[in-house]
Amino acid sequence: MTNRIDYLNKIKTNTHNNLADSTTLIKTFDDMDNGFVNNILVNGSTILFRNTSEMIKNNKKYTYGTHGTPTTNDLCVAISMLERSDKTMVTCSGLMALTSTFLCILKPNDHALVVDSVYNPLKQFCKMLLTRFNVHVDFFDPRDEYNLKTLLRTNTKLIHLESPCSNTFEILDIHSICKYIKQRSNRCVISMDNSWATPLIYKPITQGVDISICALTKYPTGCSDVVIGSVSTTKKLSLAFNNFERLIGTTSSSYNCTLVLKNLKSVFVRLYYHHNSVVKVCKYLTTSGYVSHVFSPILPWSPDHKLWKRDYKLSNGIISFTLKSNKIEDYKRLLDGLKIFGLGWSWGGYKSLAAIADTKHRHFKGITNTPIIRLQIGFEDINDLINDLDNSFQHVNNKKT
Ligand SMILES: *Cc1c(COP(=O)(O)O)cnc(C)c1O
Repeated sequence: MTNRIDYLNKIKTNTHNNLADSTTLIKTFDDMDNGFVNNILVNGSTILFRNTSEMIKNNKKYTYGTHGTPTTNDLCVAISMLERSDKTMVTCSGLMALTSTFLCILKPNDHALVVDSVYNPLKQFCKMLLTRFNVHVDFFDPRDEYNLKTLLRTNTKLIHLESPCSNTFEILDIHSICKYIKQRSNRCVISMDNSWATPLIYKPITQGVDISICALTKYPTGCSDVVIGSVSTTKKLSLAFNNFERLIGTTSSSYNCTLVLKNLKSVFVRLYYHHNSVVKVCKYLTTSGYVSHVFSPILPWSPDHKLWKRDYKLSNGIISFTLKSNKIEDYKRLLDGLKIFGLGWSWGGYKSLAAIADTKHRHFKGITNTPIIRLQIGFEDINDLINDLDNSFQHVNNKKT
């Protein structure tokens, strides 16, 4: 069987130029041996050895299901290619990708710094589980780089960034933060949750981040049918993560990996469509008269707009807002009045979703002392979606008068 990395390198050499990621994905991640457009699915736990010495040496490419299959390996090669990383480990969820990173890097008496507007389940993991292992975690204000600088300690081992942040989408200057941290400490590892952008849009490792994490559940999968995550690392951390992966036993099923591999090829196109729809929803929300604040870095007056333009240029399909009313009843009425949007967690798929985002856990509230509504704009007709919002807003306002 042909090796995927050799195949990838052969195509790179034969085309004599730097192919764009979208081309490489389509050109390289097919069935190398038989010519099918999609890659093959190999499921399995047991892999047979030809004799006992091969079994004892244990140095075959494939030795057991949890150590990788040709299919999980294909996904790891694809994500590493996109992230420009040395290694990628796939995990059973995006959350597991985050928690595995913390467990791999930290030991008792270490200190970690995490952005305050981080994905909340990770914050709960820090508070409920890491404290048991005597790891201390501080949360820094995403709007204040100085705050991060003052919280840095000599025993700070991990800095975890997320950008744009969850629900309110604050953008961090990743390049400048990494440069600063590397000047201050050579033992501090920087990880980043890159789920908002996916590695098609932003490549944290090229900006100085050591570990880039993606909830592949979201845009890479794009159909709300798989839960899966990835952790991509630079060369200096590959060995540590190889060992950790064996110790913790995390993996994802080959079947889920083929679904992601298939859908990865259209991520770039889908993000363009999401972006254009979000532009229209932004315009509607900001002019509707019902909304007090819209959270999206694409808005020219957003404090994040400049960095978004420099680093991203494209939005994904999520946008949040607060109502002029701060009564929770009005928020509930608005969501319950929606006929096309579904009420549900997560984002990244074709289905438009609405949810009330929980920001109570935040230490730095900013303008977020009221509930926040988060929308994922999917692929239903954009006019139908805007009408759905408009009808529900009118319904809330009529009830009041
Ligand atoms: C959803 C999400 C995750 C977790 O992904 P799951 O696969 O649902 O566990 C991690 N980070 C961010 C920013 C997310 O939005």
